[in-house]
Amino acid sequence: MPSSSSPKRGLVLVADDDPVMRLLMLEMLGQVGLDAVEAEDGVQAVALFQNMTPDLLLLDVDMPDMDGFAVCREIRRLETQSTVPIIMVTGGDELESVTQAYEAGATDFVSKPINWPILGHRVLYVLRASDAITRLRIADAHHRAVLAAIPDTFFRMNKDGYYLDYEQGHEASGVFDSDQCVGRHLNQVLPDDIARHMLEQVQTVLDTQHIRSLDYQLAIPGAARARQGEQAVAAPVRHFEARLVATGPDEVLGLVRDISERKRTEEQIRRLAYCDSLTGIPNRQAFLETLEAELVRSRKGNKKFAVLFMDLDAFKRINDTLGHDVGDHLLKAVSERLRETTRPSDLVSRTEVGGNNLARLGGDEFTILIPDLERVENALNVAHRVKEAMRRPFLLDTNEIFVTASIGISLYPEDGEDCNSLLKYADTAMYHAKNCGKNNAKLYSSSLTMQIMSHVKLEVGLRKALQNNELYLLYQPQIDVASAQVVGVEALVRWRHPERGVISPTEFIPLAEETGLIVPIGEWVLRSACRQAMAWQAAGKQALRVAVNLSAKQFKDENLSQIVLSTLHETGLPAELLELELTEGTLMDDARATMVTLEQLRGIGVYLSIDDFGTGYSSMNYLKRFDVRALKIDKSFINGLPQDSENAAITRAIIAMAHGLKMAVVAEGVETGAQLLLLEQFGCDLAQGYYLGHPSPPESIALMLGNQFTMNGLAAGDDGHAIKFRAQL
Ligand code: C2E
Ligand code: MG
Ligand code: MG
Repeated sequence: MPSSSSPKRGLVLVADDDPVMRLLMLEMLGQVGLDAVEAEDGVQAVALFQNMTPDLLLLDVDMPDMDGFAVCREIRRLETQSTVPIIMVTGGDELESVTQAYEAGATDFVSKPINWPILGHRVLYVLRASDAITRLRIADAHHRAVLAAIPDTFFRMNKDGYYLDYEQGHEASGVFDSDQCVGRHLNQVLPDDIARHMLEQVQTVLDTQHIRSLDYQLAIPGAARARQGEQAVAAPVRHFEARLVATGPDEVLGLVRDISERKRTEEQIRRLAYCDSLTGIPNRQAFLETLEAELVRSRKGNKKFAVLFMDLDAFKRINDTLGHDVGDHLLKAVSERLRETTRPSDLVSRTEVGGNNLARLGGDEFTILIPDLERVENALNVAHRVKEAMRRPFLLDTNEIFVTASIGISLYPEDGEDCNSLLKYADTAMYHAKNCGKNNAKLYSSSLTMQIMSHVKLEVGLRKALQNNELYLLYQPQIDVASAQVVGVEALVRWRHPERGVISPTEFIPLAEETGLIVPIGEWVLRSACRQAMAWQAAGKQALRVAVNLSAKQFKDENLSQIVLSTLHETGLPAELLELELTEGTLMDDARATMVTLEQLRGIGVYLSIDDFGTGYSSMNYLKRFDVRALKIDKSFINGLPQDSENAAITRAIIAMAHGLKMAVVAEGVETGAQLLLLEQFGCDLAQGYYLGHPSPPESIALMLGNQFTMNGLAAGDDGHAIKFRAQL
């Protein structure tokens, strides 16, 4: 803004019919630095005004033809935007002239006789005032334009919370109209809590002179007012943002904007970012944030909570066999059941957690947060309920699908004090549950840690077991059912642990597989078994077929056939006397790679059999194609015989089917004479089990072979008991 001491100099139009007056005026104006143009009469004045747009006019009232008043009126008529200041020079009846001058639109007047020394200053003063008015007018127009352009409602309010004025924005964003607000207190307009909050903010704005904003929601009754006869509808809620700015020491300007649309978009974005798109339940991100919040809450409140990690047991297989569509449907159905099982009322009553306590982390992995855990049993109960919920078959299209779930549970604060650890431990516990036979729920707890520790210790021990000669083989006889002769043995490995005593292969073989130690161990078993078979022969016993178990890892080892070949070569055992036992799982795992290995083994001429038959799934034709010579029916089928009619039917069917494909059948786990009798009736070829002989050391087998033709042979088994050989056959 220019300072008053250096006003803007300008151009003055002087109109007077008296040349002396004009001369004097020009002289005086020149003295204060103003330029001037002169008009001899009114008509010329109007013409010059239009051409030169002067900054001020000095008009004599008395001029011939067109007097000063007429000029003034004409100029006001011609003006469109700004109003140029006009000073009338009056004489004669002063009051009358002054009134007329103002009526004609003059800004100011000087009366004759003119006080020449101050004329210039008077003109400068009027120019400055006019300049200020112009600037004000521009600013005002500017503000009006700005206010018109924004959709917000604005109001002024005093420090006590009374509306001074209220102007509704063109989107009616403030909801109320000015009659509802002006002169009233916030309390009379807005709900109590919002009014209180806004008043606090008004006072803060006045104290700090900083802008403040607040969000609030209002139910708009008008928008959803039920029409007569219709049921009342809940009023829709709209979101508003009010920004408050101080406009004086005790007055604020408020701008209110309807931000409902923005809130909706934000909510949508939130949903996309936090929801699993397939199932609609919260995703990993949402779960992690919930978990984080729960952690803070529990830490503060000294509370406990549990994290459940659930994984479906055979999801991959369902996906692979029935297709991804069915897989997707299943996941949706599973999440729906989980939602029912973990309904907030059931688990949590607090809304902060209620929404996100269930999540899908990805794939077939789901997590559940159980807050306010009083007893560990409660977590186990929830796990139990989840498992129960999964038990009912899922009907998808026309398929009835049965699934089970494995669940791992970690506890805060016992197991971990941060989200990642808790989630990781729940995951570890879930794996543990799977390893314990699936459809299980396990706690990650220190006991699990100890188990893992002992696992690690066991692994260290196993690495040394071979070189320390701690492994040894027992042999379990296989009897030809029809002739009652021992025709083969199965080699079963044992580990004599220096501290723990004898460890079962069911414990250390999986560990050996995990660590890859199975390859050297398997090679050792193979060589020892082949050597032993030759040793019996060398001792004059009949030739026996020796069966060796192969684990999947060994089977995948590309050197397998080479190892088999060189072992046979080295020990001198004919290939057909070596039986390799594979499981269905091993065979079907990777059909292509399997084919190559099987082809090589067939080329060598070894006898292939399928162990634990019936517990996995395999295609009969496939088995036949690879010259599988025998199926070993798993002991779980033999177990219930002869009473269990279902298992009897299965056993009989397997035998018939195998015979149809020219395969022999071995019954595993024969423990009673009655079982053996039934198997004989079914035409089962070979039998193996405690009834016929426990896994035994080589000397006992030799003894047994020596007694082959006596009625009752005795041999010591690995459980130390004497075994009856063919006692009731
Ligand atoms: P498998 O090959 O099915 O061996 C049969 C298992 O059933 C043996 O358990 C045997 O002791 C047991 N068994 C035999 N007769 C009866 C019976 O009448 N009733 C019952 N209840 N059980 C009977 P074991 O020796 O503990 O071996 C367990 C599994 O460990 C084997 O199952 C086999 O899969 C694996 N395994 C054993 N030795 C080796 C090995 O050298 N290499 C590999 N890769 N795995 C082996
Ligand atoms: Mg076996
Ligand atoms: Mg078996």
